[in-house]
Amino acid sequence: MNRTLLIIKPDATERNLLGHIIGRLERARFKIVAMKMVNLTEPEARSFYAVHEGKPFIDSLVEFMTSGPVVPMVLEKDGAVTHLRTLVGATDPAKADCGTVRNEIGLDVQKNSVHASDSDENAAKEIAFFFDAV
Ligand code: UDP
Ligand code: MG
Repeated sequence: MNRTLLIIKPDATERNLLGHIIGRLERARFKIVAMKMVNLTEPEARSFYAVHEGKPFIDSLVEFMTSGPVVPMVLEKDGAVTHLRTLVGATDPAKADCGTVRNEIGLDVQKNSVHASDSDENAAKEIAFFFDAV
């Protein structure tokens, strides 16, 4: 079994889409092995997105990610990272494939409703960022 991290972003918690997203994950045969709701501080959001430091959208992204509660969760499935990225879709909801979570409920390239780890290595780091050994 492989693990990955998904975060339900503030635009989705604000619109009461937690149940919708969790339902899609469960129907796609992901096992939720840890989950919580948290309000990120600015330093926490900056640290989580450290790879994007210096990019034009980073300040706006940090502001967005601290604007309301987020729901990080650890998901388990064979091929978890790849399968979740496929289910989530491209960064820009307008360009994401039909049927993906972002195409279905994302608002724009920033408010795209969910984060998904992009590699096994980053998944391990991102899981450790939010959760003690799970
Ligand atoms: N983002 C943004 N503007 C952009 C590109 C990305 O606000 O032009 C935000 C968006 O919320 C995205 C996050 O920054 O999900 C991380 O960007 P990345 O390129 O890693 O996209 P992802 O891996 O989330 O698809
Ligand atoms: Mg990314």
